[in-house]
Amino acid sequence: MSKTFLIVAEHRDGKLRQVTLEALQAAARSAQDGDSIHAALLGGSLDALASELATYPLAKVHVIENDSLNAYNPEAYVRALTPLLDALKPDGLFLGHTAIGRDLAPALAAKLSAGQLSDVTAIDQEGGEVVFTRPIYAGKAIEKKTFRAYPWVVTVRPNNIPAAEAAGGGAAIEKHAAASAADLRTVVRDVVRKTSGKVDLTEAKVIVSGGRGVKNADGFKPLEELADLLGGAVGASRGACDAGYCDYALQIGQTGKVVTPEIYIACGISGAIQHVAGMSGSRIIIAINKDPEAPIFQLADYGIVGDLFEVVPLLTQEFRKVLA
Ligand code: FAD
Repeated sequence: MSKTFLIVAEHRDGKLRQVTLEALQAAARSAQDGDSIHAALLGGSLDALASELATYPLAKVHVIENDSLNAYNPEAYVRALTPLLDALKPDGLFLGHTAIGRDLAPALAAKLSAGQLSDVTAIDQEGGEVVFTRPIYAGKAIEKKTFRAYPWVVTVRPNNIPAAEAAGGGAAIEKHAAASAADLRTVVRDVVRKTSGKVDLTEAKVIVSGGRGVKNADGFKPLEELADLLGGAVGASRGACDAGYCDYALQIGQTGKVVTPEIYIACGISGAIQHVAGMSGSRIIIAINKDPEAPIFQLADYGIVGDLFEVVPLLTQEFRKVLA
């Protein structure tokens, strides 16, 4: 019997988030001929986004439009999505492994009485089964899992599964009335962003990260300069956050964000296992540390033994020449 998959699209500042297109690709990899993939889009003033999403290979884009859904609120989102879930009866639901996806997925899984798997990094079809790969034990092991029954709910780790490409077609767009927000137990009044808002850390292709070796808040300036030049984001170890050199929003690791950029430049970071848990999936790791014995060098593809305050400005200078 053909299956129906649904992705819950995320958008920010009027743009679809990259992880939504990766979730779409994840759904496509789970699908067989004859299966259909739908997308749900929630928020206010969604016409342009819905039209953009409709250019991707989807059966239908379901728009649940209401200004009260502009800011994420778990209760409002579950309530808004419930009629669609009831009507569509999806066999598989895909969300990004983002702050929203991590929060919403278990609630939707409970609604659907579905199995749930988080932080999936690859999806394959083996012998007619959909096989999900994900890291466990803070990245020390990889497990492969299948569900024994439908429906299921999956979150997809950003930057692992290639983004779906627009097919140029026009998927149907269906508008749904949003459930009333009048008696919600919580209402989001305002969202204050802690990060610079330049490049989202979890979706950045390049991350320049600072540890306790940056010495103080000003020590992040050369890292910011390099990150800006490379169109990347600045991250940090918990050591740097705990020392008050930067905001916890930048923390990468077991208790921070999990990132998988193309290039991760670790500056003055020792390479503690809890930090590595958040960045070991990076494609290329460059470590700058003045201690040649620092554990980060065991993981790094390229290591520079030296003072970050000399090395980082030199790198910026050289990259500037190349990129000029
Ligand atoms: P340090 O270990 O102090 O390393 C600083 C490094 O900078 C040293 O290697 C030093 O040689 C180098 N250095 C100093 N000066 C310079 C210079 N001028 N130029 C170049 N190199 C220089 N940590 C995380 O990062 N993320 C997490 O999510 C996280 N979660 C944790 C959860 C738990 C339950 C626990 C117990 C710990 C967690 N930690 C986490 C903390 C982790 O164990 C380490 O303490 C932390 O990562 C160390 O940060 P650091 O590498 O910046 O500092």
